[in-house]
Amino acid sequence: MIILDGRKTSSDIKDEIAVAVKKIVAGGSRAPHLAAVIVGEDGASLTYVGSKVRACKKVGFDSTLVKLPKTTTEDELLNKVHELNNNDAIDGYIVQLPLPSHIDSQKILVAVDPAKDVDGFHPTNFGKMALNLPTFISATPYGVMELLERYNVETEGKHTVVIGRSDIVGRPISILMSRKSNPGNSTVTLAHSRTKNIQELTRKADIIISALGSPNFVKADMVKEGVVVVDVGITRVKDDSEKGYKIVGDVDYENVSKKASYITPVPGGVGPMTIAMLLKNTLQAYTKK
Ligand code: NAP
Repeated sequence: MIILDGRKTSSDIKDEIAVAVKKIVAGGSRAPHLAAVIVGEDGASLTYVGSKVRACKKVGFDSTLVKLPKTTTEDELLNKVHELNNNDAIDGYIVQLPLPSHIDSQKILVAVDPAKDVDGFHPTNFGKMALNLPTFISATPYGVMELLERYNVETEGKHTVVIGRSDIVGRPISILMSRKSNPGNSTVTLAHSRTKNIQELTRKADIIISALGSPNFVKADMVKEGVVVVDVGITRVKDDSEKGYKIVGDVDYENVSKKASYITPVPGGVGPMTIAMLLKNTLQAYTKK
């Protein structure tokens, strides 16, 4: 069994980006600049945004964190989005989700300039991704594909079962895995909460990509010998540690790993890849300009 090590792979990617940034700056140009907008004080969101800003520093990017109070109105946020769209010093930016319930996330995401949409959530970029055109692929699905590619996992002709159909994780992964490309070229089944007899599907799967957010959902008796397992799930489960919680995935790692040919751990699998791919998208936004 081979562990798909997201920590090491993401560190390699960040090193590659840092080398590229050094070259850019040595050539007399400014460094790429990523901005992140956060509305409110949600603990998990603050943690995610904090790590994105730290990662920028690590690779030599400039970064700007725009912190807005949770009382920010939709119009105020739209104004901020327009401001960032028009700011030439910002190459790419993200609006951290979830937004407070009084703001229509969709309205905000479509207002982001597709050329700066390094999260790849804009319909233009999602559509290009589906059509296999050059674009920003959203960071988590991109991270899954990059892990499979860097570990030379064979996907062509394989049966992939993706569990979860969200717009930002499961659905784009299902599209990427079915595209005429490498990784890709696999036959995809997209399962969700209305899917019947999910075990029958997973037992036939050569590759399982789980993105539902339910600890221990994928158990050893649901997978066949030699399966490739990518666990995107992240759930905080209370424990006695100093932090008061631990992070767990969707997969019963201890038992499933005994049958798997490749598997991602949680933490240390897809999670770290997400930030690395966001940085990669930002470098791409900068270079395109
Ligand atoms: P989401 O929007 O809640 O979507 C969950 C999906 O799972 C839905 O499509 C849902 O089906 C499906 N589902 C729920 N219960 C199910 C069941 N019993 N059987 C089959 N399908 C079921 O979540 P998300 O944003 O996609 O995130 C999924 C997980 O990935 C979460 O744990 C999240 O924390 C994690 N995540 C990780 C990263 C990372 O960087 N590694 C990034 C983003 C998200 P319906 O559509 O029918 O409701």
